[in-house]
Amino acid sequence: MLSVTRKENLITLNFEIYLINKTSLANINLYVLAGSIKKQIETVYSGTFGKIELRSNVTVKPLYEYKLKALHNNLVIAISSNVTNDNVAEADFGGLLIKLNPKHLESINSGINKRTIPHELGHILGLDHPHARAKFESINLEASALEQSITNQEKLNNLMCQSWYIQKAGITLNDALALTENQVKLLFENYTSKKLTKNYHIKRRLFSYSWIGKI
Ligand SMILES: [Zn+2]
Repeated sequence: MLSVTRKENLITLNFEIYLINKTSLANINLYVLAGSIKKQIETVYSGTFGKIELRSNVTVKPLYEYKLKALHNNLVIAISSNVTNDNVAEADFGGLLIKLNPKHLESINSGINKRTIPHELGHILGLDHPHARAKFESINLEASALEQSITNQEKLNNLMCQSWYIQKAGITLNDALALTENQVKLLFENYTSKKLTKNYHIKRRLFSYSWIGKI
């Protein structure tokens, strides 16, 4: 479940995330990973952003057994051997699924990587990369007006820039966790305009549910 509430200048994000293992690897400790994920999200998605105060309530529920019906229209992080280009993770833009590459769980649990999960969650919340594809100090013309106004200075350590951008800026990836006030405003707007409720990977049929695509 994902919900976003606003009371004057206080925005609260409520995440209830199901954590599942879609790989054949049997020795993954979902409880440990759930703790790491919760901590990383709460760290990034809270604080003061301009005039806005942001808070996060995060519950990550490890599910060793589950029915697809229970996952339908819920926020899911699935450990998957089918992440595109063997990346660390990938997310549905404005959707409800993050696929996480099992090769990188260790770096997430150890804190060597504190950025991938919050970055992918940003995409779930409808945040785009603020820069154009493969172009340093650029504007992403496909992003929203709020994102297009993010300055090059702000991009240097921004959570939603791609890894190569941060590296080119000479910043350590774990130090590039910043969000701007505009991005925080945008995720609330995205939620209220109902852009964040689609589930692209679990399809409901008449009497059953099934995965769509390679998970
Ligand atoms: Zn991204």
